[in-house]
Amino acid sequence: MVKYHFETYARMKPLENPENPIGYNIYVEAKVLEIFVPKNESFGHVNNQKEAFQFKFTEILDQDSTQEDVFETVGKALSLSCMDGYNGTIFAYGQTGSGKTYTMSGSDTWQLRGLIPRIFTSIFNEVEQRTNLDYNVYVTFMEIYNECGYDLLDPSHAELPMENWTKIQLYEDLYGNLHLKNLSIHQVRSEQDGIDLLMMGNFIRHVSTTPMNMASSRSHCIFTIAFESRDHESEIIRTSKLHLVDLAGSERISKSHIEGKILEEAKHINLSLTYLEQVIIALHDRQKDTRTHIPYRNSLMTTILRDSLGGNCKTVLIATMNSDANQLEETLSTAKFAKRCSKLVADVSVNEQVDSNLLIQRLRQENAQLKRQLANSSEDSRLTDSPSLTLSDSELCKKQVAMFLANNSQPKLIISTLQQTYRCLQLFKEAILIKEEHYQAEIQQLQDHIQELMQRRIR
Ligand code: ADP
Ligand code: MG
Repeated sequence: MVKYHFETYARMKPLENPENPIGYNIYVEAKVLEIFVPKNESFGHVNNQKEAFQFKFTEILDQDSTQEDVFETVGKALSLSCMDGYNGTIFAYGQTGSGKTYTMSGSDTWQLRGLIPRIFTSIFNEVEQRTNLDYNVYVTFMEIYNECGYDLLDPSHAELPMENWTKIQLYEDLYGNLHLKNLSIHQVRSEQDGIDLLMMGNFIRHVSTTPMNMASSRSHCIFTIAFESRDHESEIIRTSKLHLVDLAGSERISKSHIEGKILEEAKHINLSLTYLEQVIIALHDRQKDTRTHIPYRNSLMTTILRDSLGGNCKTVLIATMNSDANQLEETLSTAKFAKRCSKLVADVSVNEQVDSNLLIQRLRQENAQLKRQLANSSEDSRLTDSPSLTLSDSELCKKQVAMFLANNSQPKLIISTLQQTYRCLQLFKEAILIKEEHYQAEIQQLQDHIQELMQRRIR
């Protein structure tokens, strides 16, 4: 288990109105973003307020940062870590129009593609490199709107208004694991497969968005890449998930000038972001031992992503921020949210388990091999003891060996079984030992004889 500190990144959107920038400094070395708040009542602040607010980030991606920079800084290491078996989550948080979708999915051109397509390229390059591992990669893509979850990869949704979409159902098993019914899972075998699914989901999301419901700014999207890997040499399986979350716009309702049904929906979304914030505050309190209960169940999004927030997960927040002065309050509030997240720490570990099917297969092979070895060794000992040699076979061996030893011509042994071979060899050994004894006795006799002759001579 390793301690993981939540990472927070600021991504500054290029100015839309260059004449009206907010005042800010980026201290690159210290990774600090300093935002200046003018002492001006039109910004809704009283005069004795603080003028400069400082926010520390893991890294700050300024207005000039490219989509490639964002991938290299935020996405690359995390996606590789997920391929090693760690869970990961990237949240894009910020007000509507600040660049969440641009950061996660990207713009229409290949050059401006976002984190998700780039992560697919990196994953499948890595799958090719890791030749000792087999990978299975799966994708799900869901949208949470008005506290209901919907499958963005259900093709039938492209022809139906959102009101008629099938809702995702959530249930918990006996072990506390969450299951999502009506969410389709798609296997991805190449970079292109993954990008196609992303485009399909974004298309379905887009066609469901009418000017009346404006769902896209008030819904959360969760694109999940699930990994399963096996080492050729072992029966250990590693599984992990990478959630890529494009959150609903974080702007407060008072500024949006909306009413009626849409106001109700906006409240829902605001509420779910408020619950997200409450979960983060509660997790921070838990770290300080001042609280134990974490209110994940208050919203669908925090329920589904509870592991990403307080569990075994490397979580990253990208705070997308406008640099225009008239967006100052929202930019400040986004930076404050990121600051709260940056204090969180999680215990993370690789998710691995033994594949029981593979283990059984290997044990069966080992068992068969041992049985073969055992059969061979008992065959050997049976042959050595020659228990099954019949009396007539034994007699035949004796005769043949005797004839062979007495005869100087070519040997004519008729041996048809292994038992007979062993018996004959035994007889040869016995004959050699007898001859040896005989020679020893003869040598002894000769030595005695020589000694006697020498003594006679001396006398
Ligand atoms: P959000 O999803 O937060 O509502 P979008 O990602 O849709 O916002 O961005 C709104 C507009 O701003 C889009 O046209 C997008 O292309 C543009 N945009 C956002 N961030 C950037 C950026 N960093 N660089 C260039 N254009 C951006
Ligand atoms: Mg968006």
